Amino acid sequence: MTNSVLSDVNINGHDYQLLLLPEMIRKRVPDTTIGFFLHIPFPSLEIFRLLPRHWRESIINGMLGADLTGFHTHDYTQHFIRSVKRTTGFECHQNIIYTPNKLVKADAFPIGIDYNKFHDACMNENVLAEKQKILNNLTGQKLIFSVDRLDYSKGLLFRLKGYETFLEKFPEWHLKVVFNMVVVPSRDSIEKYKEMKKEIESTVGRINGKYSSLAWRPVIYQYKSLSFDEMVALYDVNDVGLITPLLDGMNLVAKEYVACQVENKGVLILSEMAGAAAELNEALIINPVDHVVMAVAILTALEMEPADKQVRLERMQQRLANYNVFTWAYDFFNQAFDTKEQQKIMNVKFINNSISSQITSDYQNAGSRILFLDYDGTLVAFSKYPELAMIDNKTLDIIKKLSNDPKNQIVIISGRSKEFLERQFSEVNVTLVAEHGYFIKRGDEIWEAAFDPDMQWKEAIMPILLEYVSRCNGTFIEEKTGSIAWHYRNADSDFAQLRLHELRDDLAEIIRHKNRF
Ligand code: UDP
Repeated sequence: MTNSVLSDVNINGHDYQLLLLPEMIRKRVPDTTIGFFLHIPFPSLEIFRLLPRHWRESIINGMLGADLTGFHTHDYTQHFIRSVKRTTGFECHQNIIYTPNKLVKADAFPIGIDYNKFHDACMNENVLAEKQKILNNLTGQKLIFSVDRLDYSKGLLFRLKGYETFLEKFPEWHLKVVFNMVVVPSRDSIEKYKEMKKEIESTVGRINGKYSSLAWRPVIYQYKSLSFDEMVALYDVNDVGLITPLLDGMNLVAKEYVACQVENKGVLILSEMAGAAAELNEALIINPVDHVVMAVAILTALEMEPADKQVRLERMQQRLANYNVFTWAYDFFNQAFDTKEQQKIMNVKFINNSISSQITSDYQNAGSRILFLDYDGTLVAFSKYPELAMIDNKTLDIIKKLSNDPKNQIVIISGRSKEFLERQFSEVNVTLVAEHGYFIKRGDEIWEAAFDPDMQWKEAIMPILLEYVSRCNGTFIEEKTGSIAWHYRNADSDFAQLRLHELRDDLAEIIRHKNRF
């Protein structure tokens, strides 16, 4: 990303700014274990693919420098994996991504809070004093609250609209309820944020102007940061937490609010767009742009029976206490180290200088040698269509030279048809193994089949494969003597995976009844 783009984003928090870092660290310290956790949502492919290709590749490759990439929710993890597949074409199985030189794991780690710190703080002297200050300013009204940074993602104007709709629809609650909206200063040197702040303040002014009386102001707006004690007191004393971001990686405020409900009297209204909604499903989950639903949720929260509140809060508290920030960190680091171990097991051993000189001296000292060479991906690079993957003259010359040495026997092993291999290696004295061992041809001798070809099965299979070619765009058939290959690497990978499963089922069905042919 260029500086002109970065200049528009906050570099204090860990948002999008560090996406390229894992790859940079990997280049400097290749063997180190790198875990990367994204504290914000990863966008869906439909959004991600709007970026220029070069940016997409930089971001994905940047993140894949890590061994483990963590996200707040399963959805964000899936978005990332889909974007990896589409951008790089790397193979992915469940949440493992197979890059050319290592596997990378992507998984959901919903970040926790220091549950006990918040829960226990509610009984601190300072917090109790802060709580008393708030209560002194209320005259028996129910208190609704929200606290967010000044940010367009927090849905502050939609929230005010929801509260205004509540006041409009349920006038019986006038005088009996107060909405304390705390907005924490953030990025307000940016013009757009300044405009947003003005709009919030004029909306608050309009609502208060419309509904206030000498005895009551429906919205108390504060533009400031709160200390820890003030924050905990506010969480504790409130009747309703109205946490309705338009998009939020997790939203810790929602979790902290639940942790501070020591008397079990609060109700959390939570946006379905916050990552926290995946864990806090006993909250009243709402769409943050639907102001009527928000108004009804406020009413439901205010009228909720104490027993109902208690059950909901206790369940959420138990979950937050179990998967707290320490469990989160332990889980994340453990998985990062596990991934490193998995990489070691699966790793191909690359030839280094000492292995290379060992091979050279073994080769020179050997009285006779047999060299087994794989074709696709070894002698030639993979290409879009198999017929385009032809051997080049330089490689062919090397094979010729090797085969001219009487001490050498060269064997080319391939999944290709015997005709194709014969065309490629007509001028060299090598042994050809075609169709994964079905056929073998030693030098000038004729092709031998490993077993009697019985081609009857093809009649049943071919029409099914042809059907799958038309059902999955970009796939094609390669027919060989003893096998038929359905190539799907040029198709959309997710769609091809779906068809692949269906095809497996169809073929299994035929194999079960194979005595039919
Ligand atoms: N917070 C704070 N002082 C304030 C307001 C908020 O320390 O005046 C803290 C709050 O306790 C929470 C964090 O800021 O831990 C906000 O995190 P969240 O995930 O809710 O939102 P973000 O700002 O990361 O989008």
